[in-house]
Amino acid sequence: MMINKTHKRLFILLSIMLFVADTLFVTINYVSDKRTMQQSLSQDGLQLERSFNVAFTMTLNNMSQLATFIARSTEVQHLFSQGVQAVKKEGGGAGGAESARLRDMLYDSVSPGWAKMTEKYQVRQLHFHLGPGSTSFLRVHKPQRFGDNMDNLRHMVVDVNRDGDPRQGFELGRVYSGLRGIVPVFSDSDSTHQIGALEVGTSFKTLIDSLGSSIGGNIAVLLNEANVENATWSRPNEPESRTPCGCFIEATSSPALSALLAERASTKWSKPPKSVRTILVNTASGPVALTEFALSDYVGERDGSETPVGRIMIWKSAADVVEELNHNTWINIIYGIVGFLIIELALFWGIRLALRQLEQTVDERTQEIQVLNRQLEEIAHQDMLTGVSSRRYFMMRFQQELNRNQRSKQPMTLLMVDVDRFKRVNDTWGHQVGDQVLSDLGHLMIENSRNYDVVGRYGGEEFCLLLPGVDAATGLQMAEKLRERVERQITIPGDGIHVTISIGVALYAEGQSAEEWINAADQALYKAKDSGRNRCLLAETARSESLSTI
Ligand code: GH3
Ligand code: MG
Ligand code: MG
Repeated sequence: MMINKTHKRLFILLSIMLFVADTLFVTINYVSDKRTMQQSLSQDGLQLERSFNVAFTMTLNNMSQLATFIARSTEVQHLFSQGVQAVKKEGGGAGGAESARLRDMLYDSVSPGWAKMTEKYQVRQLHFHLGPGSTSFLRVHKPQRFGDNMDNLRHMVVDVNRDGDPRQGFELGRVYSGLRGIVPVFSDSDSTHQIGALEVGTSFKTLIDSLGSSIGGNIAVLLNEANVENATWSRPNEPESRTPCGCFIEATSSPALSALLAERASTKWSKPPKSVRTILVNTASGPVALTEFALSDYVGERDGSETPVGRIMIWKSAADVVEELNHNTWINIIYGIVGFLIIELALFWGIRLALRQLEQTVDERTQEIQVLNRQLEEIAHQDMLTGVSSRRYFMMRFQQELNRNQRSKQPMTLLMVDVDRFKRVNDTWGHQVGDQVLSDLGHLMIENSRNYDVVGRYGGEEFCLLLPGVDAATGLQMAEKLRERVERQITIPGDGIHVTISIGVALYAEGQSAEEWINAADQALYKAKDSGRNRCLLAETARSESLSTI
């Protein structure tokens, strides 16, 4: 019972500890898997940014090459050179009639090539600029607009016109924001004399469409509203190009962008991330890994301090990654549960086995203790010298027999035995010899008695023998038999002299007390001594049944 209770408590305690450890194990695994997934997404994001940068640079290189090609045409150089002079003569800015005539001629000269470039290279701007600074001479892509000053807007052009070094980069413009390559244009008559700058540009659209399909994702370019509004003549006012992020959608490879932007509306949009950032976004069509990084324009790149003008967003479905995470999480949970159950079973049986063994050991020890106790009890009940019951134990048994007799009414006889002339034994052969005689006598009395007889040492060399179920005559016979045996068998060690005993025999008379009964036997013994010793005598009370050995 106790063991069962202990088993239950120990099992519950260990189970709780195991459950906590198990839950911790599953949680740590989940967190670790999630971190691994996030790291993998971040790695992918970095790779996507690199791919974007490569495509970005290649596009700019293409623009620069086309600009260089056109700027080297002597016809272009000649017409532009004359146009520059005409504008100067006609007061700068848009110039006058001569300037217009030369502008038209230049337009006619480059427009066939322009048509091919737009078709083949998706070029969207071909722009001749006057220096110093930046004044538009001819926009081939929008020929009706010219003569405006853009010193504060077209920093790339201003820089090329200042030092004659070609430039490339992203810059907002009056008509378009674009990826631009700008080269100096020299006079056809003097190849060291720079007359202006030529710009070829394209939009992000082509770049992101082709890059999007090669990386298997979608790309969008978003520009900050403030930057766009300061730069352009015509603002993009289509509702779908205005977004919750305070940006204009410059270009996107997917119509699903607005849904993604709506999902992102609640998060912090104020600034594009400084470094590449990849996050998981849950959209209506499933989880998406979104990579974002800042887009700087030419000035930002040049000065390294300007805030970005917008951001690039690249996103791909992350359904497989999330599914893998979910799958791993379930496997973790299942491992956790199975592990828990197996350890639980092992615990249950382990504790049970251990406690059973403990129980068995306790039982064995208890039995040993019981045996020892019994032995101790026997020792306590026994007279050490003679092996018969001690006086105390004899008296206890004596009383028990008396009590039992109250019900059974069986006859009972008591023998009081005393060694004859024992003092003399001690005096002649010494106390040790006396002890040996007493020991021999005790063992002989035990040998001579029945299982249910009680033999006790009553005093120094006096013994009592209680014979339940024995009447006076039989008691006297048994006493006589004992007396004879003693006389025959017990001798003084080393001397051969026979030892004798006298016995007083008393039958229990109903109503007698223990003392009266013992006294009766004692009286008979006294008389036996008196009448010569080495004899048995029946007590007075039962004289009618008496048998004398004399
Ligand atoms: P009687 O025939 O009248 O009985 O003579 P007795 O000498 O035996 O006289 P009594 O019974 O009075 O003497 C008992 C003596 O037994 C006295 C004592 O020295 C001796 N005795 C008592 N207990 C022991 C014992 O444990 N060992 C030894 N060696 N002697 C004992
Ligand atoms: Mg005596
Ligand atoms: Mg004696």
